[in-house]
Amino acid sequence: MRYYSTRNKNEAVSFAAAALAGLAPDGGLYVPEEIPQYPGAVKSSLGAMDYPDIAFETIRPWVEGEIPGSVLEEIVHSAYPFGAPLIEAGDRLVLELFHGPTAAFKDFGARFMARAFSYLRRGEGKPLRILVATSGDTGGAVADGFYGVEGITVTVLYPKGRVSPLQERQIAGLGGNISAIAVEGSFDDCQALVKQAFGDKDLKKRLELSSANSINISRLIPQAVYYAAAAGRAFAGIPDSDGEATPRTEGGKRKAQDRDDGRKAELFGIRPGVPVTFCVPSGNFGNLTAGLYAYKMGAPVARFIAATNINKTVPDYLESGIYEVRRSQATMSNAMDVGAPSNFERMAAHFSWEEMKRLILGAYVSDEETREAIIRVHSRWGYFLDPHSAVGWHAVDALAAAGRLTPGPLGVLSTAHPAKFAETVEKLAGPVPAPGSLKKAMERTVNSRTIPAELSALKECL
Ligand SMILES: *Cc1c(COP(=O)(O)O)cnc(C)c1O
Repeated sequence: MRYYSTRNKNEAVSFAAAALAGLAPDGGLYVPEEIPQYPGAVKSSLGAMDYPDIAFETIRPWVEGEIPGSVLEEIVHSAYPFGAPLIEAGDRLVLELFHGPTAAFKDFGARFMARAFSYLRRGEGKPLRILVATSGDTGGAVADGFYGVEGITVTVLYPKGRVSPLQERQIAGLGGNISAIAVEGSFDDCQALVKQAFGDKDLKKRLELSSANSINISRLIPQAVYYAAAAGRAFAGIPDSDGEATPRTEGGKRKAQDRDDGRKAELFGIRPGVPVTFCVPSGNFGNLTAGLYAYKMGAPVARFIAATNINKTVPDYLESGIYEVRRSQATMSNAMDVGAPSNFERMAAHFSWEEMKRLILGAYVSDEETREAIIRVHSRWGYFLDPHSAVGWHAVDALAAAGRLTPGPLGVLSTAHPAKFAETVEKLAGPVPAPGSLKKAMERTVNSRTIPAELSALKECL
C-alpha cells in the first residue's frame, strides 16, 4: 500500500516511511491511496473469528509487501492478548475498549505501533528516539507499548501537575527505555516543544527522531480492527459476555434484567442481520476515522455518531458545512478537549460534507449532562461509565429524544475504564472496582525530570 499526504497527492510513500515519519514533510497527514476491501469470505465470517485473526485480516493489506504475514501474525497475537468485548449494558451495547494495560483505547494503537516499529527498524545501528507530548492517556499507552522494545527509546513530555496521579505513574513509573519529562507548562507547551525539537538542526544530526502522536497512520489502522470485530458480532446477533474487568456493581446485570422485565433493548439492542450504529466519544477524531476505515473496508456498520463535549467543532461542521477551529475549553472529559481536531484533515480527504452528513450524526454534551449520565446509568443498570464514555452515552439519549435515531443495534464505545477517572466517577456513583493493571501501576514510583518549557532545557535531556 502507498500513502500520500493530505496536502500533496503526488508524492506517495511506503507504509514504513509514513509510519516512521508520522507527519508528512508538508505538514499533511498520510492517507492510503485506496482503502482496501475485506475479501468476501472474511466479511461474512467477521462475527465468528477471533480478535487476532480479524486483526491480521484487517491490517494485512495496509502493510502488504513490508511486514510479512508470519511477522504480522506474531505481532497481532502478542499485541492483543485482551480483546474488545461488545457487551449488553442497559438498553444498548457497549464496546469496551479499556481491557488493555493502561485501561484506555489508546493501547490498541500503541501496542501495534511499537511492534511494527521494532520490525521496521530491525538491523538499524542508531537507536530510534520517540518524542511524544501527552495530556494524559497517550503518554501512558505509548510508554507501556514501547517498554522493553530494543533499539527504541521513548521520551514522554507531560504538563507538570496536570495529569492524574495514576496517569503520572503510567508515564513516569516504568523506567528502562522510557524516560519522562514534566514540563512546567500546559499540554500545548509540551506539544510546541516536541514540534521545536523536530525542527532543530542540531538534534536532527545527533538523533534519529520519530513521533507517536495520534496522527500516525500506524496507530489508526489497528483501531479499525475493533470496529470490524464488534460490527461482525452485532450483525451475527452474538454479543460478548462481560470482560474480566467489566465495571458493574455486584449483581448489577441481574438486577437490571429483573427490572427491565425482558423489555429492555427494544430500540438499541442486538438484532441479527441489522448493521450496528457506533457512537464514538471524540477529541482528535482518530478513533472515528479508524471506524470510517472499517466501514469502507466492508464491516457491517449502519452509521456513526460523533459525540463531543463542548469542544464541538465537528458537530457544528456536520450541521453547517463550515469548519471553524477554536481554542479548546477545559471539561471533565479532558482527553477530548480539542478545538482543532487533527484527524479531521484525514476525514475530509476521504469524504465530502454531504457524504459525512449521511454517515455521521453529530452531538455535543455538557459537563452537567455528562455527570447526570454517569449517575443515571449507574443507578438504573449498575454499570459504571467514565466521563468520556458518558458523553457518548448521553449523546445517544439526546439524539433519540430528538427523534433522530432509527431503531437498530447501537454500540457506545467506552474509551476508558471508569477506575482510570475514579476521582470523578466515585463522587457520582460510588466505589469503582479497579482492574489489576491499574492497581499495579499505582504502586510504581514516579521518576521524571522537571524542566521549564524551553527547547534548550529539553535538548539537555536528550
Ligand atoms: C484519546 C481519548 C479520546 C479521544 O479520542 P480521539 O481519537 O482523539 O477522538 C476519548 N476518550 C479517551 C478516554 C481518550 O483517552
